[in-house]
Amino acid sequence: MKKHNFSAGPAILPREVIEGAAKAVLELDNTGLSLIEISHRSSEFKAIMEEACLLSIKLLGLEKKGYKAIFLQGGASLQFLMTAYNLLENKAGYINSGTWSTKAIKEAKIIGEVIELASSKDQNFNYIPKGFEIPNDIDYLHLTTNNTIFGTQYKSLPDTEVPLVADMSSDIFSRSFDYSKLDMFYAGAQKNMGPSGVTLVIIKESSLNKVNRVIPSMLNYEVQAKAESMFNTPPVFPVYTVLLNLRWISNNGGLEGVEAQNDKKAALIYNEIDRNPLFEGFAHLDDRSNMNATFNLTDDKQAGVFDSLWNQANISGLKGHRSVGGYRASIYNALPIESVQVLVDCMKEFEKKA
Ligand SMILES: *Cc1c(COP(=O)(O)O)cnc(C)c1O
Repeated sequence: MKKHNFSAGPAILPREVIEGAAKAVLELDNTGLSLIEISHRSSEFKAIMEEACLLSIKLLGLEKKGYKAIFLQGGASLQFLMTAYNLLENKAGYINSGTWSTKAIKEAKIIGEVIELASSKDQNFNYIPKGFEIPNDIDYLHLTTNNTIFGTQYKSLPDTEVPLVADMSSDIFSRSFDYSKLDMFYAGAQKNMGPSGVTLVIIKESSLNKVNRVIPSMLNYEVQAKAESMFNTPPVFPVYTVLLNLRWISNNGGLEGVEAQNDKKAALIYNEIDRNPLFEGFAHLDDRSNMNATFNLTDDKQAGVFDSLWNQANISGLKGHRSVGGYRASIYNALPIESVQVLVDCMKEFEKKA
């Protein structure tokens, strides 16, 4: 029986996307060949890459706004380095809102001067830092729009003239948003976009070729953009699966459509966390993530009872990250609201039993 998959990543994908990907592995569109045995230079695969780039830009509302979509390897983690390599000339500002931001800062420091403008480390990253000064002489300000581990999310971007760069690994394509406020953003596919093995980078064409240093070809956005994401052999399977998922989003009302669903799911789980005296939310109310809901038991000694309830209900992937403890319900685009209801029913049942 199919489980209710609350995994933080690699994470749930729509059933029809997984079926389409499986079918293409056997045979791609009557070509007599498998998706994973054709040349990436074939007309079939070129069309797949082109559509994936185009549809990304279109869904994000960035058509005719001078942005380029590139599919790369190395995960979001390599982007921590590449952003600085390509964009940091003098100094950059970073907001530290969690584990991934901390890692981004560490990598950027290899390249140049990094100023940590704000941090929520003082409260184990349970809020989004606000109200700090942004110097106007930094090359860019880097932030993590959704903190997958701690369950916090920016509801709006800082108001500033400096270029904004964002790690959107766990909330890209989850909501309508003015993406054109960002000069560059990136996302590892395996949270809300597709299987692991590919990373989407969206960058303003005017941000290419920004710095004077020599950049190794594989790490150079301009080289990768000019080669249309085919400087070397791209990961054909993840790119194709991402494309199927983008089509699924498109057919489900685009970002407005998935956002409306995501809002309903988030309201359902957070209402129960707040109503049920046996649970407490981890993140500050204003900063709660619509993708990863983090919560703890008010009495840890009852964990065995709750754990056996959700295990029996066929729920998977609910354990919190070790740095937060408790539970994390990742409710990405593909998770049906019925699965959230099953979890909420377990929470209510727990209240009766405990
Ligand atoms: C998972 C995650 C990463 C790391 O992604 P990799 O593709 O494994 O390198 C970075 N940032 C955020 C916000 C994430 O959720």
